[in-house]
Amino acid sequence: MRVAIGLGANLGDRLATLREAASRIGRLAPIVARSHVWETAPVGGPPQPDYFNAAVLVEWRGAPLALLDALQQIEADLGRVREVVNGPRTIDLDVLWIDGQVVDEPRLVVPHPRLHVRAFALAPMLEVAPGATDPRDGAAFVVPADPGVRALSFAL
Ligand code: ADP
Ligand code: MG
Repeated sequence: MRVAIGLGANLGDRLATLREAASRIGRLAPIVARSHVWETAPVGGPPQPDYFNAAVLVEWRGAPLALLDALQQIEADLGRVREVVNGPRTIDLDVLWIDGQVVDEPRLVVPHPRLHVRAFALAPMLEVAPGATDPRDGAAFVVPADPGVRALSFAL
């Protein structure tokens, strides 16, 4: 199955962290596409630094929950500590979208519940999955206007 994974970081060396996470994701599953790196203003939570966000599209052959487990292991290995909700983080890895599939479990909801309102997640996702549709109703995802979300000149 084709899966879009969102990457975010706003503490430490944001680019190095995103690239290390992408490299580890590449050891789990073949990476089919990589987005640009986007610099984005934080949404919600306490005052905190801007994020770097990106997305990769992977070909995943296991269960969706097994992918979540693997991504959470990468978060832990890269030093993520969960403190404040929506607070700053060294790395956040989210399962944004699975082509043609809905997941609704306590630990994993796909499409990601806030995907449609989050330009910082959707803009990079649509670079790696252009024309992606919501498996619940077939509607195309559209990036909401957000001046706080800007593409940098380089790819992940
Ligand atoms: P957030 O990404 O919402 O800022 P966290 O990364 O701390 O917050 O994730 C909180 C919980 O969200 C995780 O423990 C995970 O089980 C759950 N979760 C539900 N759906 C998803 C998804 N699509 N991708 C990643 N985590 C998810
Ligand atoms: Mg997360």
